[in-house]
Amino acid sequence: MAGGASRREVAEDVYAYVQHDGSWWINTTGFVVGPDDVLAIDSCATAVRAQRLRQTIAEVTTAPVRRLVNTHHHGDHTFGNAAFPGATVFAHHNCREAVLADQARHVAPHVWNPAPDWGELPLRPPDVTFTDRLTLHVAGKHVEIVHIGPRAHTTGDVVCWLPGQGVLFAGDLAFHGGTPMVLQGSLTGSLDALRQLRAFGASTVVPGHGEPCGPEIFDHHERYYRFVLAAARDGLDRGLSPLQTAANLDLGEFADLLDPERIVLNLHRAYADLTGHGEVDPKAAFADAIAYNGGRPLHCTA
Ligand SMILES: [Zn+2]
Repeated sequence: MAGGASRREVAEDVYAYVQHDGSWWINTTGFVVGPDDVLAIDSCATAVRAQRLRQTIAEVTTAPVRRLVNTHHHGDHTFGNAAFPGATVFAHHNCREAVLADQARHVAPHVWNPAPDWGELPLRPPDVTFTDRLTLHVAGKHVEIVHIGPRAHTTGDVVCWLPGQGVLFAGDLAFHGGTPMVLQGSLTGSLDALRQLRAFGASTVVPGHGEPCGPEIFDHHERYYRFVLAAARDGLDRGLSPLQTAANLDLGEFADLLDPERIVLNLHRAYADLTGHGEVDPKAAFADAIAYNGGRPLHCTA
């Protein structure tokens, strides 16, 4: 396994839990510590990783994790939910539906190499769902759970906003050091999401992957989304497939981001959106990402 994990106290009793290097399946989570209980924000992809998150929280407090928020349904943020058996899990309604329908654990051996070693955790869907927002209270701290929609990284994205601390847990609406990913979301929806994210006025952004950062990450993501949309329009004009468009594309300032093959997945989404074609075929999209990668499964160290 590459890298380790470490916690960062981004405000008093508010932590980011950063797993290195933030590539496929290796996410950043968070937790807010009160005198009697802990609110956790996302779990991890595997039993081992979720256990390590539990241990890290236990280094800070003896209080139990009684509440857990899932920022969206992807397995790197939800598969470890069952490692927190005493917690009530909160999420957007669409997140719960997608957790129940998710097949990623079964397709992973074909797409990623090595595939993550999931461990023995059962599926643990959210208990409490909502469609717009709710506020949780941890001692004196307000944690506003806000849906960013209608469609950005997924159709069930929420952020955790601590107005008193200026800290925004953005989930996978922010990738710091990694390539943003909108295969199950929307490019134009992600641009609209940036407007909603900026409006919080956060001083600290905890992304869904990578180290905490500032709101300048939203400018970076805006450039990336516009870059993908422009490439898709150009490819469509020239009659190229998403894979052909990606193969001919100079990624420029985005070339050094982790998991650059996501350009293929994002182009599949852009093509579907621009042509009004509706849903993307994820199997075809991932097959193209593997082709772009020289026929090799996607690199994974989770
Ligand atoms: Zn995600």
